[in-house]
Amino acid sequence: MAKKEFKAESKRLLDIMINSIYSQKEVFLRELISNASDAIDKIYYKALTDDSLTFNKDDYYIKVKSDKENRTLTVSDTGIGMTKEELEEHLGTIAKSGSLAFKQEHEVKDGHDIIGQFGVGFYAAFMVADVVTVITKAHGSDQAYKWESAGADGYTIEPCQKDHVGTDIMLKLKENTDDENYDEYLDVHRLRSIIKSYSDFIRYPIKMDVTVNKPKEDGENEFEEVQEEQTVNSMVPIWRKNKNELTKEDYEAFYAEKRYGFDKPLAHIHTSVDGAVRYHAILYIPENMPFNYYSKEFEKGLELYSNGVLIMEKCPDLLPDHFSFVKGMVDSEDLSLNISREMLQHDRQLKLIAKNISKKIKNELKNLLKHDREKYESFYQSFGRQLKFGVYNDFGANKDVLKDLLMFYSSKEKKLVTLDEYVSRMPEDQKYIYYASGDSYDRIEKLPQTELVSEKGYEILYFTEDIDEFAIKMLAKYEEKEFKSVSSGDLGIEEDKDQNNTDADEHQYKELFGEMKSILADKVKNVRASKRLKTHSVCLAADGEVTIEMEKILNAMPDNQHVKADKVLEINTNHDVFKTLQDAFENDKDKFKLYTSLLYNQALLIEGLPIDDPVEFTNDICKVMA
Ligand code: ADP
Repeated sequence: MAKKEFKAESKRLLDIMINSIYSQKEVFLRELISNASDAIDKIYYKALTDDSLTFNKDDYYIKVKSDKENRTLTVSDTGIGMTKEELEEHLGTIAKSGSLAFKQEHEVKDGHDIIGQFGVGFYAAFMVADVVTVITKAHGSDQAYKWESAGADGYTIEPCQKDHVGTDIMLKLKENTDDENYDEYLDVHRLRSIIKSYSDFIRYPIKMDVTVNKPKEDGENEFEEVQEEQTVNSMVPIWRKNKNELTKEDYEAFYAEKRYGFDKPLAHIHTSVDGAVRYHAILYIPENMPFNYYSKEFEKGLELYSNGVLIMEKCPDLLPDHFSFVKGMVDSEDLSLNISREMLQHDRQLKLIAKNISKKIKNELKNLLKHDREKYESFYQSFGRQLKFGVYNDFGANKDVLKDLLMFYSSKEKKLVTLDEYVSRMPEDQKYIYYASGDSYDRIEKLPQTELVSEKGYEILYFTEDIDEFAIKMLAKYEEKEFKSVSSGDLGIEEDKDQNNTDADEHQYKELFGEMKSILADKVKNVRASKRLKTHSVCLAADGEVTIEMEKILNAMPDNQHVKADKVLEINTNHDVFKTLQDAFENDKDKFKLYTSLLYNQALLIEGLPIDDPVEFTNDICKVMA
């Protein structure tokens, strides 16, 4: 029979997988048991909800069996099984489409990452086995199939004999080497302890044949060794256990076992509610962002159980979008097993649960922020953007829930600060919360527009993400303080002496500015003497609601609406350059035109905006130099 190759990308991933991924090889067993449990979940749910199937709880179990003579270890389940097509699809391709391309762009830092991101749990078997054989019969099918592979060079599938629906996965263990002892995975005690540590909470019995010493029936004080089938795991789902009996490690183990993520969660929430609606929930705040998090493919949701039976793998209605990063599960006895997706959406109980959960998550985040800043910042690095989208979305419906969770980089503290921290430090005479937008902290720091505000000693928040300014516009105020861009027309800073000065300047140079404006025509709305510039010669400012940064972002969007900021060219009348400009204004109109255009283009460059005609700009500079 022809051997089929793994898809090319799978082959390479499999190599990495086998050679480098897990530091602890023993987790292969957790992966296989998790798959078995998932498969039983699927058929269990069918059996409970489909009257044509007879239901007997004892029919659902996992069995782990070792055979020392043949060096094999078999994990069997009475789950839903796989059809030939499913074998082909699920076990013939490791990396799901697109994910390998992603991996190539991002250095593999830690193997745990890949496993989670690519769903290659099953292939962990190759860490300990030379040959893996899968014998499976799908629910509703008469024919069983055997899938076999000796690693990276491919696999075969052929029809075979199997009585019951379900799957047996047989590993032919590798030979021992100097560094690795594979025999341990044949040892019942060792296997038992691995199952205890990783898979104790699995809801179905994990059975093993154990040799025990039993008193002989007839003989006095005589013992004999007999084989006995025992259930190794406690089967009590973790969410039904008492919080006080559980350790951080238990929660981390559950997180890993459930493949919520392959990072370590930053925090967990375990809650049991016995009120108007009864439910248990375990929720996690992950540390790392899933690679597709900010893409359309990402699906939010929590696992939903009805009295211990999984009814939905990702119930989106349990999580608001702004907390879509949360992973975990909810089990409620008040939900019907037969509830459909559509009905769920309108379910009153579910809405109540979702509301409670949302509150819990917010409190947990506030708690982290208050008591473990480092962790919170690490969370914020991954998911802060989502919180800001949350402020902006739905016309600001959730802004009050989220505003205290926001952080921005501070010009003074040189780190992320909350709005509350900013406002509580504001000097008496400071009217606004100031911010500046740009591509990076470094670039913002050098913006001429920040000069006056910085000189006043006021703190400036640096906005580097496109969503920042939009979120802030939606907030409008924090603690009664309005937000103000350092580039906006009126900074609200009283500069007693300077104020008069610039007003006088304005008057004095009215003609000069008027002529500059007509030279620049529709490029700017106005030209004026700057109050905010101290050492720099020019900058752009914006009057009105739309800032220059917002113009840039809106115009980069696919549905470009050609929004324009009201740009104002500001000139520092105390700068040496201004004297040259004045001189030209009085004596040489061609030069004046040249200087006006040069200054305008400089202002564009500072702002990170493209200049209309770069060739002309460089020619102009040459003219000045010649
Ligand atoms: P993941 O479980 O993360 O999707 P795996 O590589 O472990 O990735 O498994 C791929 C798929 O193969 C599973 O999603 C499931 O559909 C199928 N599968 C694996 N093991 C079993 C099993 N014991 N019974 C039925 N289906 C299985």
